[in-house]
Amino acid sequence: MDSIQMRAYAKINLALDVTGRRENGYHDVRMVMQTISLFDKLTIRPIVKDELIVANSHGFLPSGKGNLVYDAASLFLNTLGSKQGFCIELEKHIPIAAGMAGGSADAAAALLGLNELFHAPFSKKELHSLGLSLGADIPFCLTGGTALAEGIGEILTPLPAPPACKVLIVKPPIGVSTKFVYENLRLDETTEHPDVDGMLRALEAGSYRKLVSRLGNLLESVTTLHYPEISAIKEQMLSLGADGALMSGSGPTVFGLFQDARKASEAYYQFKTGQYGSQTFLTDFHCSQK
Ligand code: ATP
Repeated sequence: MDSIQMRAYAKINLALDVTGRRENGYHDVRMVMQTISLFDKLTIRPIVKDELIVANSHGFLPSGKGNLVYDAASLFLNTLGSKQGFCIELEKHIPIAAGMAGGSADAAAALLGLNELFHAPFSKKELHSLGLSLGADIPFCLTGGTALAEGIGEILTPLPAPPACKVLIVKPPIGVSTKFVYENLRLDETTEHPDVDGMLRALEAGSYRKLVSRLGNLLESVTTLHYPEISAIKEQMLSLGADGALMSGSGPTVFGLFQDARKASEAYYQFKTGQYGSQTFLTDFHCSQK
């Protein structure tokens, strides 16, 4: 069996609404998901020993159980009934606990890579349900591109790719747990929701101007209340010429969209040389689907 290298792409949310809370604590969402050209790298190598090893470049993450790469790979191998050993090297670039689904992207890449090495024992649908059992964002990460995610995030409808632009990513050094944000969301007191349908129309029309005007994330109201630096980053991006700026997922990452590549480079330079420099990236939409 050969080795394989996989890219695990991060996502941002162009729109994120929460429409209800289920009895089991899960929330119903309507999200416009978009992969961007910022990725982790996975190298999956078969080894002689009957063992699963995950070696990661990031000291903060577990290398065994609890690392989503390990969990996804062991679920895959157990479901297949395979005793083949693997060493998976994870080169981490996507900020962690950032609202960019980095862990889910890694898990999806592990599932896709193993499926390829074993010559596709599982269909797309089967991979989708394996992924979903590990996390609600994993089904989207299996296909990527642009999609509307509904239900708890697993009901996916492909959407037209947005017009090209530069995407500036800035992640302040705050760990925001998704659980904390959802627990502090007061849905019954929320009267204003992001215009997800407006975002869908903007994508259908291929209108960058409309897209920018429909950017919205319901979770921003919760996270910015506790972490004012998120609003400060948004304001700074806008003052540096971003056409629009928004928090991604449950935060704290903020992204800014620029059609003017020169303004984007200047804004990138400003943030890169500032206090958030190590977690600042200039990237773009990654639109091809797997
Ligand atoms: P989402 O946008 O789906 O809420 P996120 O970007 O907020 O995700 P992740 O970076 O995916 O968050 O990580 C969430 C948690 O998962 C972290 O606390 C981290 O410890 C754990 N985790 C396990 N494996 C990984 C991995 N391979 N990469 C990143 N985080 C991982």
